[in-house]
Amino acid sequence: MVLYPVLVLERTYLPVTIFSHKKAFLLELLNKCEVLQHYSTVKLKSPSRDYPAPLVIRIPVLLKHWRNSSPTRRAVFIRDNFTCAYCGKIVKDNEATIDHVLPKSRGGEWKWENLVTCCSECNQKKGGRTPEEAGMKLLYRPKKPTGFELAINKWKGRFNREFLEALALYGVKVGEEAV
Ligand SMILES: [Zn+2]
Repeated sequence: MVLYPVLVLERTYLPVTIFSHKKAFLLELLNKCEVLQHYSTVKLKSPSRDYPAPLVIRIPVLLKHWRNSSPTRRAVFIRDNFTCAYCGKIVKDNEATIDHVLPKSRGGEWKWENLVTCCSECNQKKGGRTPEEAGMKLLYRPKKPTGFELAINKWKGRFNREFLEALALYGVKVGEEAV
């Protein structure tokens, strides 16, 4: 089943996340959201009729109350686009490892700012050392992403023209590589 992205805005029209069109449609049926725009090309089929899928919805929460995702392994990989923070190699889901920049043994914590995606070679090479000690350079400084940044990274392989236009309409810019 192909899932289409739906832009989710909070009460003051700020983008908070991306849902699948099925989830958004369910919220629409339950009257849990306001549909601001529908897809012209994507339909949901029922035995009796077809429904246009939601493209942009608004939910009755405020951004400050939107839950902040905790750094799960997978969320770190998604934030980093499955790219090793040391050599820049793209790692597959089952090959990706997590590196504590400041090693756990030195009190390095499980938090966004101390975790990076790492290929197994770089992880072995670094061992229980800091990047400086291991003579390895971080390609970027890890930081805490917003929930919306994570959603963008998670969904960008499934973006389509209508969705990109909706993003632009609500002031979201995505990089070239996302198209
Ligand atoms: Zn690497």
